Amino acid sequence: MSEAREEELAKNLEGVRERIRIACLAAGRAEADITLIVVTKFHPLEDVRRLIGLGVRHIGENRDQEAAAKVADLDAQERRALTVHFVGQLQSNKAGHVAGYADCVQSVDRSKIAEALDRGAERAGRVVDVFIQVDLAGTDAGRGGLQLADVPRLAAEIAVLPALRLRGLMAVAPLGSDADEAFTHLQQGGAQLQLEHPDATSISAGMSGDLEQAIAHGATHLRVGSAILGSRPPQR
Ligand SMILES: *Cc1c(COP(=O)(O)O)cnc(C)c1O
Repeated sequence: MSEAREEELAKNLEGVRERIRIACLAAGRAEADITLIVVTKFHPLEDVRRLIGLGVRHIGENRDQEAAAKVADLDAQERRALTVHFVGQLQSNKAGHVAGYADCVQSVDRSKIAEALDRGAERAGRVVDVFIQVDLAGTDAGRGGLQLADVPRLAAEIAVLPALRLRGLMAVAPLGSDADEAFTHLQQGGAQLQLEHPDATSISAGMSGDLEQAIAHGATHLRVGSAILGSRPPQR
């Protein structure tokens, strides 16, 4: 069972890496500019361990309790090997806790969250990388993210928080939308952001179904779950 799972993960990972290679070639981009984050939500710690063994160095999680438990169960060497990204929607009362273990929080979409993360990071004696999450549907559909037009204000607020480091923008392509068009807007927003915040060079876009489009439109971080881990077990 466990060996079969390892083979399955290895095969899926290689498939995704091959897709990234081809998409980079097509876009004239260097593979070294792309960070692959494997989203391990709902999958057990054993899978995280297998992924570390397969060379994965970035994982993504979207729920505080589950993420905190997994990180706590890693041994020191495993923890050092990994960069842990929090990609789920956050409530301000949870944000401080997340800042205690996540290396990067990609779902910052309002000042209250940023301030709570900053306080939590400061308390833990840490500096946390953050991405501003953008709602590309433009509908405030409740899946998180703020409108591109509101990015400059939040970015300016984050820039003065001592325990946060603004890295760039994150988004999910809206369901049923043209991912090329959505990611083009995100890329333009990213270029705009960099004018004021030269270190905020990252664009987190692209999941199992649309990583090629994301690479074509400047993504630096991909968040891939099901194409590597298979379908998620039923949500508890
Ligand atoms: C679950 C999740 C992903 C991964 O999605 P897949 O389609 O399984 O690759 C990426 N980003 C976020 C924010 C997620 O919640």
